[in-house]
Amino acid sequence: MKSQEYLAKEAKYGAHNYHPLPIVIAKGQGVWVWDPEGRKYMDCLAAYSALNQGYNHPRIMKAAIEQIETGVTLTSRAFYNTRLGDFLEKVCQLTGHTKALPMNTGAEAVETAIKMARRWGERIKGIAADKTEIVAFEGNFHGRTTTIVGFSSDEDYKEGFGPFTPGFKLAEYGNLDSVKAMVNENTAAVLFEPIQAEGGILIPEAGFLSGLAKFCKENNILLIADEIQTGLGRTGKMFACEHENIQPDAYLLAKAISGGFMPVSVVTANEEIMEVFDPGSHGSTYGGNPLGAAVAVEALNVLVEEKLVERAEELGNYFVTKLKAIKSPHVKEVRARGMLIGVEIRKESGVARPFCEALKEEGILAKETHASVIRFAPPLVITREEIDWALERIEKVLNINVG
Ligand SMILES: *Cc1c(COP(=O)(O)O)cnc(C)c1O
Repeated sequence: MKSQEYLAKEAKYGAHNYHPLPIVIAKGQGVWVWDPEGRKYMDCLAAYSALNQGYNHPRIMKAAIEQIETGVTLTSRAFYNTRLGDFLEKVCQLTGHTKALPMNTGAEAVETAIKMARRWGERIKGIAADKTEIVAFEGNFHGRTTTIVGFSSDEDYKEGFGPFTPGFKLAEYGNLDSVKAMVNENTAAVLFEPIQAEGGILIPEAGFLSGLAKFCKENNILLIADEIQTGLGRTGKMFACEHENIQPDAYLLAKAISGGFMPVSVVTANEEIMEVFDPGSHGSTYGGNPLGAAVAVEALNVLVEEKLVERAEELGNYFVTKLKAIKSPHVKEVRARGMLIGVEIRKESGVARPFCEALKEEGILAKETHASVIRFAPPLVITREEIDWALERIEKVLNINVG
C-alpha cells in the first residue's frame, strides 16, 4: 500500500483524537525511519522520548524475541513469572527506592501514584477520610484519564469530559510561594514534572526543585516526580531531578523504560509509602508481564551500558549551541536541557506547525508542542554527524517565509 492509502484508512476508521503529520513510518533503524515509498527521515520526536534507545535496537529486540520464544508473554499477577523480579530490582537500583509497582502506560503510573498518595495521606499522615488533597501545577501534562485531565489547565484536554475527580489544586509552575499558598493540613502530595515537556519545554528557575523538595519534607508532604518524559537520560541525567540533587518520594516512569517496544510503566517509592498497597487494592492484567519486564530490563541496561545519559548531555549541548547560533527571524527562544530541546517561534511568525511541515519536507520529523514550540528530542543514540545533518536542514527551515 502507498502512504496515501494508509492515511486514508486511518482517517476513515480511526477516531479523530489526533492530528498527525502526514507521514507513514514503515521501517526504522536508530534515528532513521522510512515511509512505504522508501523516503528516509530523521525522527526528532522519538515517540515523545519513548524511543531514547532508537528504533530496532538489536539488544532490546533480542531480549523481546527470546522472551516471546519461551511462549510466556503474559502470566497475570495471579502467578509469579521469571522476569518481573529482575525488572523490579533494576528500577529500584536506578531510582534508589526500595519498592516498585509495575503498570503499563504512563497515565496508569500517575493514577497509581494518586491512589498511593491518598492512602498514605489517610493511613499514615492521618488526614480525615476522603479529604486528601494533591497539589499539581498549571500547564501540567500527566496523561489522559478522566481523573488526570480533571486537574489539567488545558481546556482542550477536559472540555466536555466532566464531572471531574475532586481533591486537586494547581499551583503556578516554578513558583514556590504559589505552592505554599495551595498547601494545608490535608495536602498529601505534590505531583510535578521537573521540566514541563508537553507544556512547552518549560524549565523552572534554578532552586525551584530543591526548594520544593525541602518544603515538602518539612511539611510531611510526598514529593512525586513524573519523569515519564524527562527521565531515563533525556535531559542529560538519568532523572531530571538530579539536576538539583533531589530525591523525590516517588518516581513515575514509562516511555523509554521499554525503549518503544511496548507499554511498560512503574511507580517507585520506599517501603514506608508503598506498603499502603495490599492485595486487592490495585492491579492491572498486563502490569508486570514477563515480556514487558524482559524488554524493560534490557532497555535500561542499554541506557546505562551505551552511556546514553552522558551522550544526551554532551551531544545535547552540542546540538543546542549550534541551534542557538542559527540566525532566524522567527525564533523567540531556544530552551533545552540535555537532548530535550524546544524552539519557541515568535508570535509574529505564527504557530510552529508550518515549520514542522517544512521540516518534514527536508527529511526531519518533529512535532509542535503547545502550538508555538518545535520540540527536538531525537533518540539518544544520535551521532554528531547526524546532528550536523539535521542542523543544516533546520537552519534552512528556520529561515523560510511564513504567513
Ligand atoms: C507521556 C506522558 C504521560 C502519559 O503517558 P501515557 O503512556 O501516554 O499514558 C504522563 N506524564 C508525562 C510527563 C508524559 O510525558
